[in-house]
Amino acid sequence: MNAPKTLLVTGGSRGIGAAIVRMAAARGWLVAFSYVANREAADSLSRELEETGAKALAVQADVGSEADVMRLFETVDAHFGSLDGLVNNAGVVDQKARIDEMSGERLERMFRINVIGSILCAREAVKRMSSRHGGRGGAIVNLSSAAARLGSSGEYVDYAASKGAIDTFTVGLAREVATEGVRVNAVRPGMIDTEIHASGGQPDRIERMRALIPMKREGRADEIAAAVLWLLSDEASYTTGALLDVSGGR
Ligand code: NAP
Repeated sequence: MNAPKTLLVTGGSRGIGAAIVRMAAARGWLVAFSYVANREAADSLSRELEETGAKALAVQADVGSEADVMRLFETVDAHFGSLDGLVNNAGVVDQKARIDEMSGERLERMFRINVIGSILCAREAVKRMSSRHGGRGGAIVNLSSAAARLGSSGEYVDYAASKGAIDTFTVGLAREVATEGVRVNAVRPGMIDTEIHASGGQPDRIERMRALIPMKREGRADEIAAAVLWLLSDEASYTTGALLDVSGGR
């Protein structure tokens, strides 16, 4: 029997990340996930997985800190020995604002976590997966957003721009490592029912915007997880550089 494949999901303690962790563990992946501040949520997911007979490694690490990213990957190395998949899921929004209200600190936080964090994690994953570095190949999936296409005017153009950067990075990195056994793709979720909207000060955001979605309903985190798991799997062996919209038609 082949050894189970290993997966790291950043921001895997809640929301879409937690759905990815659950689905991957159920499908036999050996999973590590990171979180930044909410230890309770991470512990609760670990307990839930243990009850189903699965096990996941939870690591506190801020993807916006290079030192934390290095420690995160070293911890995964020490536990798993190798890495087959990375999901760059950790991401943040901010309060609804127009551009004339956005501080430089806000922009730096947004891009440090959403863009630089994802690029740093991808760098560490490529060092471990690429045949150029003696790795056995692997897959990276980046969480972008429909916002990258829509622009989020009057809400958070900075967030949308950070996800636009993720799309460009996905296409470029996919081509850069295409002959090294590493596939790189992105999923662009639409409006998904998680706590991210409340974290941006808009707990009623889905309620207000549901009518704009052609399918007239928000998505579930597990509907995003299914797309991510497919892109990670061998069924997607010829798919790289793809930006997959999972957004109810929006
Ligand atoms: P969420 O419910 O707010 O969960 C965010 C997760 O990321 C939590 O596990 C959180 O950890 C972690 N996290 C936040 N900042 C971090 C940091 N600096 N370092 C490490 N981990 C960090 O978010 P979500 O809705 O599941 O979103 C997940 C991804 O999908 C994001 O990239 C988001 O932009 C994207 N997305 C979401 C939607 C949507 O409608 N929900 C739509 C499009 C795209 P703690 O628990 O410790 O805080």
